[in-house]
Amino acid sequence: MAAKSKDFLRRIVEEDLASGKYKEIVTRFPPEPNGFPHIGHAKSITINFGIAKDYNGRCHLRMDDTNPTTEDTKYVEALKDAVEWLGFKWDGDVRYTSDYFDKLYAYAIELIKMGKAYVDSLDEETMRKFRGTVTSPGKRSKYAQRSVEENLDLLERMKNGEFEEGAHVLRAKIDMASPNMKMRDPLLYRIRHAHHYRAGDKWAIYPMYDFAHCLSDYIEGITHSFCTLEFENNREIYDWVIDTLGLPPPRPYQYEFARLNINYTVMSKRKLLELVEKKIVNGWDDPRMPTIAGYRRRGYTPESILTFCDQIGIAKANSVVDVSQLEFCIRDDLNPKVPRVMCVVDPLKVTIVNYEGSEEIGAPYYPHDVPKEGSRIMPFSKEIYINREDFSENPPKGYFRLTPDQPVRLKYAYIITCKEVIKDAEGNITEIKAEYHPDSKSGSDTSGIKVKSAIQWVEANSAKKVELRLYDRLFCVQAPQGIEDINPDSLKIVKDALIEPAVITEKPDVRFQFEREGYFFADPVDYSDEMPVFNKIVSLKDSWAKKSKAPEKPKAQKQKTAPKKAQVEGEVAPMSEAEQARYDRYTKALQLKSTVAEMIARDEKLSIFFEEALKAYHAPVNIANIVANEVSREMKQQEKLLFSPQQVAQLVKMIDDETISTKIAKEVFEVMAQSGEDPEAVVASKVLKQISDPAEILPVIDEVIAQNPDNVQKYKEGNQKLFGFFVGQVLKATGGKANPKVVNTLVKQQLEV
Ligand code: ATP
Ligand code: MG
Repeated sequence: MAAKSKDFLRRIVEEDLASGKYKEIVTRFPPEPNGFPHIGHAKSITINFGIAKDYNGRCHLRMDDTNPTTEDTKYVEALKDAVEWLGFKWDGDVRYTSDYFDKLYAYAIELIKMGKAYVDSLDEETMRKFRGTVTSPGKRSKYAQRSVEENLDLLERMKNGEFEEGAHVLRAKIDMASPNMKMRDPLLYRIRHAHHYRAGDKWAIYPMYDFAHCLSDYIEGITHSFCTLEFENNREIYDWVIDTLGLPPPRPYQYEFARLNINYTVMSKRKLLELVEKKIVNGWDDPRMPTIAGYRRRGYTPESILTFCDQIGIAKANSVVDVSQLEFCIRDDLNPKVPRVMCVVDPLKVTIVNYEGSEEIGAPYYPHDVPKEGSRIMPFSKEIYINREDFSENPPKGYFRLTPDQPVRLKYAYIITCKEVIKDAEGNITEIKAEYHPDSKSGSDTSGIKVKSAIQWVEANSAKKVELRLYDRLFCVQAPQGIEDINPDSLKIVKDALIEPAVITEKPDVRFQFEREGYFFADPVDYSDEMPVFNKIVSLKDSWAKKSKAPEKPKAQKQKTAPKKAQVEGEVAPMSEAEQARYDRYTKALQLKSTVAEMIARDEKLSIFFEEALKAYHAPVNIANIVANEVSREMKQQEKLLFSPQQVAQLVKMIDDETISTKIAKEVFEVMAQSGEDPEAVVASKVLKQISDPAEILPVIDEVIAQNPDNVQKYKEGNQKLFGFFVGQVLKATGGKANPKVVNTLVKQQLEV
């Protein structure tokens, strides 16, 4: 079972297992095969398959294919690929809602017979009017009075294709005055004269999501039906259908979690399809697409995506994740794993005039991780290529690489000095003539020449020409609205980069770090021996961190001309006026960091909480940190908070006056969040108070000193670094309760004796 701190879905599952409500957990991942799955689906996949795995249950892969006009088997294949690539296995065969069409139809007939469903023949416009508004009840259609026989007859004929699309629909008879608009006699079936990619032409009616989903879950014996928040109001229909049909237990229940949104990214299949159809990208698996196929082709590893999904967690409130977090995950995954090699992106020829013959130079693959073994041979000869930017005729201040006056080391090889710069008629540098220093070879350098850096190089005869596809974020604004926000530099192709021979490989799935350039992956589609193609997976550092602080395109102007668009599912909305105003005040008057400020400003509940806490104790930065982290987490996971803003203020005050350390504060918070007790009471009852009394700390220090005579000896002989060791041991021995300042002073004092 999952040992890590549990999310609210896992807690529900555990309770249900403990209470005996279910003997086995069965979940499902239910995509509609109308597009390639994206990173949001990866979240849903890791939730559904992950929970089944953690609790020894099963997870089904079900194609939710009730819409005949948009679905296609190529999407089914893409969905299967994605699940497998992420390392999960579905239980049994792939399932299809379309396989249940007969059963669903039988349930519809049952509802009609119970007087709980009717064929409505209002035109769309009238139907909409009759639905009422949030503040006024709707009005039931006169057709709701049709007899059971008439309803059965009409439904049969609808199924057989006797009517035009839109002529009739089947509706549940629930409550036209329900405060939940979705419950106002929702549609169960509609007429579609369309060929279904699996069911063929058998059906002229197709079930609606609200009818098909709950029953498919029931038919499959699903226990927990996890879906995203936008289905919250559909839950009532879900339950109504199952209850009204009186289906015997065990029955499934629906639980909602927040969908994943990422900045600089669009994430609805509809929008992604548009990018594909308009040829803004080269297909669904274009490495810039946020699809699983796109990440896969770009060179992301499944591990990095799983780590990302794990890091973002499962919450009950929508939020926007920074895309740099995903980039961080892939970098972090590749950093220890992949070999470092040399690629010269913009080659400049260097002829070493005093070198004859050739030799082989051994170079480690993992220079950053010396104990890790692995190296390759780099051929070396008179002619090499270096990066054009590694030579400067008129170097700016602080330029460490090759210049007419400054030698440089060829990494793992020799130091060279520039002797002559050759130019073409236009004055472009075409070649450098240099001399090498025979006694300067890396590892046995006796030349005494000082260089400021070592540069990349490849040997001319053995180097291989490669194509580099340098990918960057597809959108250049945080909350892209559409094609107008495409980053014009999202793909740069370099045709004549040169790579050292060791990199050429027949193995699929190989990744390298091209030193200084980034992480690269052999393109699984276009790579060939004649023209090796490498995709840039990610740069070595986050190059957007600075850029994103620059003001974005003025949004205000746009909004004047076009009415503000409603937030589309899966996208980041620009801040509303109120949110922006809060944000400005938090960053300017209260000096909060922009990330913290944005997080609080965008969430009304959180900002009210924050401001209440501030009234009780004015320490904006410290309070904001707790609000943005701990409080926000609790708000997402708990129905109701047990603690108040005033209590959080009190907690921060106790940190500030050094009653407790920030570490203890976290523990206190957890207790407070569970019990609603005042932080002072928690501290008193748990003896969590910070220890500042030397009389209490000194014995601990003496003990640590007594137990580490060797280290004491070394410290006294001058190893100052060990000071931290002693302080750490003392803090550990007190469970982090000792006041670090006091410990520092006392440790120094005791070690001097
Ligand atoms: P889109 O709006 O992108 O087309 P969808 O919700 O229509 O997505 P489905 O194929 O119906 O896509 O979704 C399959 C499952 O994946 C559903 O349970 C859905 O809730 C979940 N899902 C879709 N998008 C996200 C997301 N961004 N974050 C988390 N889960 C998601
Ligand atoms: Mg959808």
